[in-house]
Amino acid sequence: PIQHRLREMALPMPTDLKARLFANENPFGPSAKAKQAMIDSLSTSYQYQLNQVQDLEAKICAYEGIDSKMLVTGAGSSPLLLGTALALCSKGGNVITADPTYEDLPTRCENVGAKWIKVPLTKDYKHDLDAMEKAINADTKLVYICNPNNPTGTIVDTDKLKSFCERVSKKVTVFVDEAYIDYLPDPKSSTLISSVKSGQNIIVARTFSKIYGLAGMRIGYVIAQPEMIALLGNYADSGLFLLSAPSVAAAAASYQDTAYMQATQQKTAASKQYLYDTLKAEGYTYIPSSTNFVMFPLKMDGTRFTDEMMKRGVGLRHWKLNNEEWCRISIGRMDEMQAFATAFKELS
Ligand code: PLP
Repeated sequence: PIQHRLREMALPMPTDLKARLFANENPFGPSAKAKQAMIDSLSTSYQYQLNQVQDLEAKICAYEGIDSKMLVTGAGSSPLLLGTALALCSKGGNVITADPTYEDLPTRCENVGAKWIKVPLTKDYKHDLDAMEKAINADTKLVYICNPNNPTGTIVDTDKLKSFCERVSKKVTVFVDEAYIDYLPDPKSSTLISSVKSGQNIIVARTFSKIYGLAGMRIGYVIAQPEMIALLGNYADSGLFLLSAPSVAAAAASYQDTAYMQATQQKTAASKQYLYDTLKAEGYTYIPSSTNFVMFPLKMDGTRFTDEMMKRGVGLRHWKLNNEEWCRISIGRMDEMQAFATAFKELS
């Protein structure tokens, strides 16, 4: 299914799209500093990047106030999602997720023999933590929380999530995927890294693919208890010999570059407001989003809609939610949002 999803997403994409709004990338990235660092890294690229990776990891650990044994980097967060699925679900059992959510980790759990228990979102399209807790049984190996959630762009209440994790992590591992958390105004107040630091059995995943604009560089990491990091090391390569010179250089040059991150947030907010206005003007609703993508209900078949939009040079994705057809649109540059609006008006 993963290969199928990638084929469906990536291969038929024409290279001359007017608007590439299907993969939740940051079209304003990478930062100028990251680009320079990538160029500079080429001269030492004949070396394994052991020191550079360790320096980057030390930077992240210092910012988060954690021991180096609590962190592992990877070529994007995806290999670490896979490693978690292999480590925890390959002997069967079940994984509990919201529905809909980011499907990579639970799909992989299913592929290695676990059952995927899907818990519908609340009426306001958020994780239903109470229902997810009730769904846990003796076979549950993993609970996956994507916060903010992909594809809905919604966030769960931080205090609720923290008390959920405090209880649930005593029984099973909780995986909190924070790929989009940097789009929140104050990620530090919403992250579950503080709960990992207090000793709970939680894995928090982060990536440089989103706000840092480095999806093509492939770099991410997870933070968890040292024993869990050691376990994951049996199933996913650690970044030490894995990350390429430009990747690690770009990540180090971008990490917590607040000026760059704020500028991205502002441009994203302006494009998102333009999208909201366009949808409203055409008589459409949407789920208010805390991220760089938005979901809105369609008035036609999802496949037909995305095909018609693709013919007009606009790449989008569609979803089924509550048995209805929805579109997920990534927030692009203003020219991309305008290209979307022009094509959308022709169809709606
Ligand atoms: N987690 C979520 C919620 C995502 O949406 C994505 C990518 O879209 C990923 C993880 C994987 O990102 P990467 O492997 O580039 O770090």
